[in-house]
Amino acid sequence: MIQTNAYATLSATSPLQPLVIQRRDPKPDDVLIEIAYSGICHSDIHTARSEWGPSTYPCVPGHEIVGKVLKVGKRVKRFRKGDLVGVGCMVDSCGKCPSCKTHEQQFCANHTVFTYNSVELDGKSTTLGGYSQHITVKDKYVLKLKKGVPLDRVAPLLCAGITTYSPLKRYKVKKGTKVGVVGLGGLGHMAVKIAKAMGGEVFVFSTSESKQADAKRLGAKHFVLSHNAEQMSKVAGKLDLIINTVSAKHDYSPFLGCLKMDGTMVLVGVPSEPSQVAAISLIFGRKRLTGSLIGGIKETQEMLDFCLKKKIYSDIELISADQINEAYERTIKGQVKYRFVIDAKTF
Ligand code: NAP
Ligand code: ZN
Ligand code: ZN
Repeated sequence: MIQTNAYATLSATSPLQPLVIQRRDPKPDDVLIEIAYSGICHSDIHTARSEWGPSTYPCVPGHEIVGKVLKVGKRVKRFRKGDLVGVGCMVDSCGKCPSCKTHEQQFCANHTVFTYNSVELDGKSTTLGGYSQHITVKDKYVLKLKKGVPLDRVAPLLCAGITTYSPLKRYKVKKGTKVGVVGLGGLGHMAVKIAKAMGGEVFVFSTSESKQADAKRLGAKHFVLSHNAEQMSKVAGKLDLIINTVSAKHDYSPFLGCLKMDGTMVLVGVPSEPSQVAAISLIFGRKRLTGSLIGGIKETQEMLDFCLKKKIYSDIELISADQINEAYERTIKGQVKYRFVIDAKTF
């Protein structure tokens, strides 16, 4: 076993605090990684606080992990010591079901093992995430990074990047596609950058007037204050696709009203409480309301290659581990610009 420094919550109401945890010695198919940076996703907060149902404690969040390979198991051919790598939201799955066979491990019919707060395939241990200095991961779930990239700004691609890339690609954003992005936070700002890079004309819907200049700088052509009825009415019926990243309960109908006929709104934000949707807001215009969960490992590598080639990185605030609790509060208030990333040396 390898001992490593981490940050954990011990209950739904306690703050994150230092904790020494164990990682397994690399088995033949494993890669031992020295973590350099770990992003803070809003899902970390939902989970640390049991907002989606009871979590297992101690809970070590973190699924936007980048670092360097320290050691590989004897069957590992894809990596060697010193390689720069990433780990996202999943670390294992059955590998045999139709979803796994079509590279959609996030929808494994048997058991997806998520990077934290998930039971390993052995049915016993609970996974502990990236807020730590080391992690041991099966090589098939490790992503390749190239040298010379700003690692801290790459970390958020491992969740915020893939979660927005996947639906933007699935719904075929191309030159001239009118794409709405609801909520300008971690996922939202990556959605803006990636949609723009795919050729989309981007409309940001935000509750924060102060984010207007940033939205434009990030690549949006239009900025709409979502609680301003007059601004919303100007974009009614205009959009092909909306990526909704909002983390809190809100009314979907005003955004459905912004879609064209046959337009699609993809929910990626996961509020802890359900919202009602009026049938009529979908029936008129034959609109679609759907969801999307991260992306498979193959697509995550494709997203990384796409973003690194185009130099699409996250806008981050780099913090030390003792600032995590403050960062959580600022994220909840929608004040992050636009992703907190923790320097793993400080765990
Ligand atoms: P984040 O950085 O906190 O961004 C969320 C944004 O939503 C905020 O910046 C804010 O933007 C807006 N917002 C927050 N509260 C709101 C409210 N009450 N009403 C309206 N807008 C509000 O969070 P994130 O890390 O991007 O994650 C967003 C959500 O996606 C979370 O629920 C997370 O769990 C989920 N998630 C899902 C997946 C997936 O695979 N589906 C993957 C990762 C994360 P404005 O200030 O611009 O309004
Ligand atoms: Zn995430
Ligand atoms: Zn499977």
